[in-house]
Amino acid sequence: MSVPSLSEGALLKICQGDNVDKPILQVLGLKKLANQNSSSDRYRVFVSDGQYSNSFSMLATQMNDKIINGSLVNFCLIRANNYVCNKSDNRKVIILYDVDVLTQPGQVSSTIGEPTTLNPDGTVNSTNAKKPASVKRAAESDVGPPMAKRSPLTTPNGNQSAPKSSILDPRPVYSSSGAGSFDPSQVSVHPIASLTPYQNKWTIKARVTHKSDIRRWNNSRGEGHLFSMDLLDESGEIRATAFKEQCDKYYNVVEVGKLYYVTSCSLKAANKQYSTLNNEYEMTFRDSTEVIPCNEDASNIPTITFNFVKIKDLAAASKDSVVDVMGICKEALDATTLTSQRTQKEFTKRDIRLVDNSCNEVNLTLWGQTAETFDGANNPVVVVKNCKVSDYNGVSLSALSSSVIQINPDMPQAHSLKGWFESEGQSAQTQSLTQLGARGGADGSIGSNLKTLGEVKIENLGMSSEGKPEFYSTSAYIVMLQKDRALYKACNRVNDGKACNKKVVDQGNDQYRCEKCNSQLDGFTWRIVLSFSIADSTDNTWVTCFQEQAETILNKTAEELGALYDQDQDGYNKVFQAATFKHYDLRLSCKAEHYNDEQKVRHTVRSVVPINYDDYKQRLIKDLESAGIEIPDKLSKGSYL
Ligand SMILES: [Zn+2]
Repeated sequence: MSVPSLSEGALLKICQGDNVDKPILQVLGLKKLANQNSSSDRYRVFVSDGQYSNSFSMLATQMNDKIINGSLVNFCLIRANNYVCNKSDNRKVIILYDVDVLTQPGQVSSTIGEPTTLNPDGTVNSTNAKKPASVKRAAESDVGPPMAKRSPLTTPNGNQSAPKSSILDPRPVYSSSGAGSFDPSQVSVHPIASLTPYQNKWTIKARVTHKSDIRRWNNSRGEGHLFSMDLLDESGEIRATAFKEQCDKYYNVVEVGKLYYVTSCSLKAANKQYSTLNNEYEMTFRDSTEVIPCNEDASNIPTITFNFVKIKDLAAASKDSVVDVMGICKEALDATTLTSQRTQKEFTKRDIRLVDNSCNEVNLTLWGQTAETFDGANNPVVVVKNCKVSDYNGVSLSALSSSVIQINPDMPQAHSLKGWFESEGQSAQTQSLTQLGARGGADGSIGSNLKTLGEVKIENLGMSSEGKPEFYSTSAYIVMLQKDRALYKACNRVNDGKACNKKVVDQGNDQYRCEKCNSQLDGFTWRIVLSFSIADSTDNTWVTCFQEQAETILNKTAEELGALYDQDQDGYNKVFQAATFKHYDLRLSCKAEHYNDEQKVRHTVRSVVPINYDDYKQRLIKDLESAGIEIPDKLSKGSYL
């Protein structure tokens, strides 16, 4: 490969405002700027045209990969296909948007010619202006350009005529391609609400309130990928979508909650089917669009506002309502990949368990990239704006595509929650809304879908949704308990932090075999499976409950009950007698199952608490009144309602 000639004099012309088509320049040095907002590195480039050099050029971030892949190195020759010269505070800064590297690394190993360094304002000292490039350079030592003999990455330390505030400061500098100039400190920022499709050049300063996953499409018109983000300023909000190259370029730059300058997207009418934002328009990135982190004071730009609901109070939230939640990730299950039955596409989900200082836990399901990349190590604080309340397994939460999820956000509430968890929360006794199915029942009050047992039967609850449990609440007496086969000997192995609890086979001589773990054990733990009949004034139903609920009802731990079973049959029987004819508020799930060609509904107790008579009376009075029955005046309703 031959070495092309440099476009001598091009840098001076460019700084004087002339247009030089695709000048060929030599790179004399590269300096990575310290960027606190480190989403994307910025490089300052020292370039020469053989006659002049300047140290005020910046490489646009989309060219960074040429540095990373090792093609853009010191002394290499580049062709600047697209660039712009900005004037800022009397300084000229050339932004190189698109360059081609014309030489192989190492092909050129020294400075070509003896370039004269341009002044920061893009001029040359008159004594030097007309001199050939071979002029002695003593006169320019005060603007110390990077010299050929310097080590490649050395930067000029003596560059005193270039005030640090502009040149060494990583403050982003921008111009829309080919025209105009943009310096964040000088540009006039447009309010989002003022944008229309009829303006071409504008800049907004806005906070990213939401960022989608990368979505891929494949249809008759081709394939591609995109992401969108929601932007908010004092005046309003708007959605912006970046496709393909822009998507790749900016997806990792943009962080939710941070402030950016965004320029020159194209606007079109918003598709209200996909956006609930309050704006007639939405925007699409163009080739010339830039997104520049803004580190300035942003007190006037609204932040994302949260309206947190305590996990305990989720029990009372209605199904499908959308809430903001903050919790500690107590446990993160593994991500699993499933195939959608509808679209046949694979998707990823991950369940995590959140707890807050109400000592209640709830499951949150994450989807897509958020699920794939979530890291639950060290119990991070998880903040979710806009997640959906579902009644799956009681109460659970599901992230939506519009959810904003922040991990360990820098918020006072998050710090105090983390403090609570570390001091007491991690060892505190907690109750899970999700496992217990305790919608509305977490604090002892009865939950949603309140039914009498007669209604449950008449409505065939559980039969309609094959394989999917339905939940209901009821108040009923325990009228009969099955005391035989209430206990079983269970595997006491702990696998991945979870007790196995499978039934073991007693081998005699104190050896027990677990088929699931495929191992021989020296001991076992007692577990309870309790069947009992509950009744109210309308009907009765046989139900099943497991360990925790059974221990509540029997007022004995499984180990205590097991000891009685082994040593004191009379005491064992008394436990069951004592549990009979007690009145409870219960939360149950029911589900159709097949037994010998017969379909039966199996009812499982999800939570059980002694009845709260105050609540119970209120419900009875409301029921009577809604049935048109007048409550006699002598009954003081005030004490009940
Ligand atoms: Zn086992």
